[in-house]
Amino acid sequence: MSDARRLHRRQLLWQGLVGAGVLAVGPAVLRAASTPVADLGRLQLAAASVAPPPIVTRAQWGADESLRGGRPDFAPLNRAIVHHTVTANHEPDPAARVRAIYEYHVRGNRWSDIGYNFLVDPSGRIYEGRSAGGGGPFGEDGSGRSVIGAHAEGHNTGSVGIALLGTYSGAAVVPTGPALEAVAALVAWKFGTRGIDPTGAGALIGHRDVVSTGCPGEGLYRRLAELRLAAAARIAAASRPADDDDGDGDGDGDGGIVEELLDPVGGLLG
Ligand SMILES: [Zn+2]
Repeated sequence: MSDARRLHRRQLLWQGLVGAGVLAVGPAVLRAASTPVADLGRLQLAAASVAPPPIVTRAQWGADESLRGGRPDFAPLNRAIVHHTVTANHEPDPAARVRAIYEYHVRGNRWSDIGYNFLVDPSGRIYEGRSAGGGGPFGEDGSGRSVIGAHAEGHNTGSVGIALLGTYSGAAVVPTGPALEAVAALVAWKFGTRGIDPTGAGALIGHRDVVSTGCPGEGLYRRLAELRLAAAARIAAASRPADDDDGDGDGDGDGGIVEELLDPVGGLLG
């Protein structure tokens, strides 16, 4: 079973458990389903444990905070929108480019802050974009709501805007492997902690999917399917109990606890 498929089953299971009231009912029902409660608790904890990737903070890339205005707004996150910045590829000082984009968005567009939530350079470094107002580099408030950027008109609320530095307009202009890996890690962290399936409809899309634009360029747009699977694989890997490959001790890595649960709980979900 592919990682994406396994992840899909796991999410269906958890949605089903919640929907069927099993999680609300608690341990008695779970014991009736012949599943050790300790294992369920471990799975639930693990499902929420996708670690954030390293992020270059605004202070580290040299954001002039005196340029920024207004107060950030927040909303629950439900999708990621990928962009390219339409700047030169492989610039020697990507942090300088991030500063220039910030200045352009504030002074040129007269926005309150840089539009993108995160930017990624060809070496795979992730830069904090739109400020959450001093709450750290993650672009979230204390409740885990995502700061609303300005990157896809009419679709900013609830989306995280991730921009790859460079221009990928030609189908043959492909992003670097490290840049794609960084985006996958970023999406896996944002989605995994929220139970969002990167392969779900509309979850991880390009700017052109919601606005009339060529962004993120054909070369990057064609990699989105691969990015969805890479992010899903990262979530699946992070969800797997660390002390046993798939949690069921049979060493086959086929889904472990999920497989065990599907049968006894199946009746409740139906
Ligand atoms: Zn765009």
